[in-house]
Amino acid sequence: MHLKSLEVSGFKSFAKKASLAFTTPITGIVGPNGSGKSNIAESFRFVLGEQSIKSLRGRRGEDMIWNGGGDGASAAGRANRASVKLVFDNSKRLFPSIDFDEVSIERVVHRDNSNEYLLNGSQVRLKDIVEILGSAHIGATGYHIISQGEADRILSASIRERREMIEDALGLKVYQWKKLESMRKLERTEENMKQVESLRREIAPHIRFLKKQVEKIERAEELRRELIQLYKAYLADEEAYIRAERESIAAASAAPRKEAADLDRELESAKKILTGSKGSDAKSGEVVGLESRIKAVRAEKDSITRELGRIEGEMNACRRAIDKEKEKQKRDEFKTIYLKDLEEAVASAEIFQTVKEVISSLRAFISRHRQSVDSSVIADSEKEIEALSREKAGLESRLKDLIEEESRLSKEYESLKASIEKDKDTNRDAEKEVFRVIARQNEVRSALAALSGRSAALDRIEADFKRELGEAASIAGREAVEYDRAPEAGRASSAETRQEQEERRRKIEKHKVRLEDAGGAGGAEVMKEYKETEERDAFLAKEIVDLEKAREELVRLIAELDARLDMEFKSGILKINAEFQKLFTLMFGGGRAELSVVKEARRRKKSEMEELDEALSGDMPGAPSDAEMDAQEDGPEGLEVSVSLPRKKVKGLMMLSGGERALTSIALLFAISQVNPPPFIILDETDAALDEANSKKYGDMIADLSRRSQLILITHNRETMSRAGVIYGVTMGSDGASRLLSIAFEEAVAVAK
Ligand code: ATP
Repeated sequence: MHLKSLEVSGFKSFAKKASLAFTTPITGIVGPNGSGKSNIAESFRFVLGEQSIKSLRGRRGEDMIWNGGGDGASAAGRANRASVKLVFDNSKRLFPSIDFDEVSIERVVHRDNSNEYLLNGSQVRLKDIVEILGSAHIGATGYHIISQGEADRILSASIRERREMIEDALGLKVYQWKKLESMRKLERTEENMKQVESLRREIAPHIRFLKKQVEKIERAEELRRELIQLYKAYLADEEAYIRAERESIAAASAAPRKEAADLDRELESAKKILTGSKGSDAKSGEVVGLESRIKAVRAEKDSITRELGRIEGEMNACRRAIDKEKEKQKRDEFKTIYLKDLEEAVASAEIFQTVKEVISSLRAFISRHRQSVDSSVIADSEKEIEALSREKAGLESRLKDLIEEESRLSKEYESLKASIEKDKDTNRDAEKEVFRVIARQNEVRSALAALSGRSAALDRIEADFKRELGEAASIAGREAVEYDRAPEAGRASSAETRQEQEERRRKIEKHKVRLEDAGGAGGAEVMKEYKETEERDAFLAKEIVDLEKAREELVRLIAELDARLDMEFKSGILKINAEFQKLFTLMFGGGRAELSVVKEARRRKKSEMEELDEALSGDMPGAPSDAEMDAQEDGPEGLEVSVSLPRKKVKGLMMLSGGERALTSIALLFAISQVNPPPFIILDETDAALDEANSKKYGDMIADLSRRSQLILITHNRETMSRAGVIYGVTMGSDGASRLLSIAFEEAVAVAK
């Protein structure tokens, strides 16, 4: 048993809340005409999501709501909402996806025609309700809810509608839903594929453009890397060269610099010697002075020697005079010369000044006194000798001094002369030295000049090096100047290395130009954009692969569903036919009845999806018009019912009486329900046209059917009522509102009448 209860409130004639509990396999609903029984059957359709208001006997949703009724004292106001709640027993998981033992489905319609659907009290979408019901074999075509007068609906329906009803009954709708869903997905997938492919086509030229840019940038980067390597080698060797060359110049300069300083000093001292030779002039002057002094000394010496000779002579004369006088004295003795006179005469004579004068004055004196002082001649002579001796002694002493003087001056003269000679030699040497020093200085200077030339050249090289450092960093990046600061010693300044350096430098220049041409500016952004675009393209490509996979999967799924639908439909039809034949024979005591698959004639071939869509939307297409019939074409498959009654020649549904028709459709309905029993079946006066004998057969079939499906039977038929476990009576008061009450069988029979 699957149904538990139904609760209606404000729905059609059920103004107030009324509920039915379905406690037995068969529930009967009885009541007079117009009391509201059919409204209960409709409340089932309503709550199960019926969208066709027309099939619920209304024009719009509002017609489902209690509209008030009665007049005068019994007048009742209308309701604002209609709600119907159907409660299922889910303890056996009738709804496999819902993990509750009880499932309630509720639909509410408001006066503004808005609908609400609730599943176990939570609001859900209609789609959810349809899906849930589908999972429990409660189909949308409502073949298991047979409304009043619709008993032969399955017979009067077109072959196509019939096929749909049977597909629904066979539980194939689920697969059809799946198929439709898959086909929609397939359509969307193919659309997506087209879009993705067009996107890829759109970005392809951009990627090509970016790729070229990136290749350019990569080439530039490669060049830059090469340039860095060149720079590293070049800069390392250049720096080492500069250092080594500096050291070499410094080393080479040390000796000549020292020599130059020494030469300066040597020149200085040689010049000093030459300047010192100016003293020889003074010495020459001194020589002249000495020569004249020696000459004077020698003259005085000669004069004194001569004077001494004279004095000696005079003294001798005196002595002879004395001797003569003595002789004379013997004749002219003693002529006196006064001392006083002599002294006067001597006193007036200047010794050393004029010896001549002295001599002459003495002569005069003597001559003056010769006659006068004869007698004193001897005395005078003696006196004179005495005087002369004194004079002589004086002169001799003077002479001695002069000799000494002369010897001293001569010595001085000699040494001066020697000194002058020596001076002359020294100057000559000094002059030679000056020439030598100057010549050497020139050599040393030119050597130093060559070195300073080298140094200046090195300065230029160093300036170039520094400029190159700056350029390297700015063109090739910092890495280029992070070179090895201590390359192999001794390598730097070899001619070979200089040659290599020159080559490197040329290469560097070439690379710089090429790098500039490659113009890697904005590389990072281009790389980023390329990466992003390529990633996007790869993503799109993968998307296409995924979509293709999905598409294949869907095609496979659709084919599978088709196969399954076909298989289940065909096997279902076989089973139904077997049951149909059995029930038909039971009803009519013989004859033949069967469903057969036929092609429907169609004017235009609709797409399969349109067909499916139509089929699932519940809007049954009408019978083909004449015009459509004119342009016949093979349409989709439909189901035809063919019957032949026993003992009667007529064949075909058209020839059946009302009762026969009712029996045939009941047989078919029950056959369908036997093959794939729905959880419940509602039959609204399906038994109306049956006579008593057939009512009995009908009752038996119901009893059989109720073993697998819960039955709710709206009936006036006594036989049918007798099969029900619980009977509800529906009455309508003067206010136009339906009321429900559970009643006993006898009561029901009474009420039904
Ligand atoms: P029968 O035995 O003749 O088939 P029934 O018991 O099946 O009769 P229903 O057709 O269920 O009767 O009831 C129809 C009644 O419901 C009518 O009287 C109609 O006026 C009433 N009704 C339908 N819709 C509404 C509504 N919206 N508001 C009030 N009453 C309504």
